Amino acid sequence: MAPHDLDRARLVALLDVERATYTRTHPRSAEQYARADHLFGRVPMTWMNMWSGGFPLYLDRARGNRVVDVDGQEYVDFAMGDTGAMAGHSPGATVEAVTARMRDLGGITTMLPTADAEWVGAELARRFGLPLWSFTLTATDANRWAIRIARLVTGRPKILTFAYCYHGSVDEAFAVPGPAGQAVAREGLVGAPVALSETTRVAEFNDLAGVEEQLRAGDVAAILTEPALTNIGIVLPEPGFLSGLRELATRYGALLMIDETHTFSAGPGGATALWDLQPDLFVIGKSIGGGIPSGAYGLTREVAAAAMSRDDADLVDVGGVGGTLAGSALSVTAMRATLEHVLTETAFERMVALAGDFTAGVQATLDRTGVPWTVQQLGARAEYRFAAPAPRTGSDSAAAADDELDEYLHLFMANRGVLITPFHNMALMCPDTSAADVALHTRLFEEAVTALTRPRT
Ligand code: PMP
Repeated sequence: MAPHDLDRARLVALLDVERATYTRTHPRSAEQYARADHLFGRVPMTWMNMWSGGFPLYLDRARGNRVVDVDGQEYVDFAMGDTGAMAGHSPGATVEAVTARMRDLGGITTMLPTADAEWVGAELARRFGLPLWSFTLTATDANRWAIRIARLVTGRPKILTFAYCYHGSVDEAFAVPGPAGQAVAREGLVGAPVALSETTRVAEFNDLAGVEEQLRAGDVAAILTEPALTNIGIVLPEPGFLSGLRELATRYGALLMIDETHTFSAGPGGATALWDLQPDLFVIGKSIGGGIPSGAYGLTREVAAAAMSRDDADLVDVGGVGGTLAGSALSVTAMRATLEHVLTETAFERMVALAGDFTAGVQATLDRTGVPWTVQQLGARAEYRFAAPAPRTGSDSAAAADDELDEYLHLFMANRGVLITPFHNMALMCPDTSAADVALHTRLFEEAVTALTRPRT
């Protein structure tokens, strides 16, 4: 049963029931949304309209893996702010450290370094292997600045990305292959500054021959990828794909740039440590500050030396690499506390084991009902997709999208006290997730799919 073979009438009927329940049980959220006349799209940031049900839940409070909305409903949170809260909501050690910085010492942002920055740099080096680090406030900025460094040191104009990748609001990364294999803008791209073919080359994930074809022109500064695509379902790398990328990058004089903003879920050193990826440039963001805006990019000594040796490059003023609040005392304090005390090796062990249970629970329902969907795990993260076998490229995975099914599953869960990431069918374990929370999801997933597939009486 492919998604299009589903009993659509049944799906729509079930969805109507879930929508009505959602509206009835969240009057305060609905009212606040209706009153938000001075917000573009009625929300603080337009993505917040991605939540299912016609209006987002309004947050009252959140701690650990629990969220409470303004209607007083409590949720087991598997969305974790789309990874921004992978350390749990308001983790104790992070809150203590930032409170001490803000209230006791003072100095949220001063453009002066603090000693914690070197600690964080050393810890990122220990975890991910790159020796030198610079800080940002978002993963988007880390990608943008690292891309500039890649162009500077290679003297080449283009970035090679993969179809349906996502690296933040980075202009280069919104490309899909056009009819002749050239980079064209993906559907819906807002206000591209120039044609994508001027800045970008694009290939399909898991297609080394396609990558090599793009590299042959000799104009690629960096191959930019996540170790597994995570923003179009989870598309795992096939054996040899990532080592092949490393090898091709070296052979064609391009840098390998790995974005671990989501795949950090793979383990304490991300997929880079787990699979020995050896990138030249590395990007991370979202989770490492425990929810306080933080990001970082790492460089090899070779890349750093090549950048520093360029007298014509302004790395300390308005050359395009830097941001006023980046590396602030607040952000660096948060990163230190989160890495030292929250996203520890022990925490990852538990989180990965729970994601294994989550995956097995979903798989059991897929096996029992025979729906041709797949579930993929990447460390502490798991995601189901409406295709079987699992898609091996971003384009294949994009073709398996089903908005009605997404909305049904999201609302079914939300109406019963579970949040799944709105952009995905993704679930992320945090240090506070329990076996009982996973069991709740397993039961609800079983019920949701059974309702969808039960023979008509
Ligand atoms: N890289 C990856 C892999 C991401 O998934 C995202 C956000 N989903 C980003 C970068 C950008 O993060 P931010 O929006 O915090 O800048």
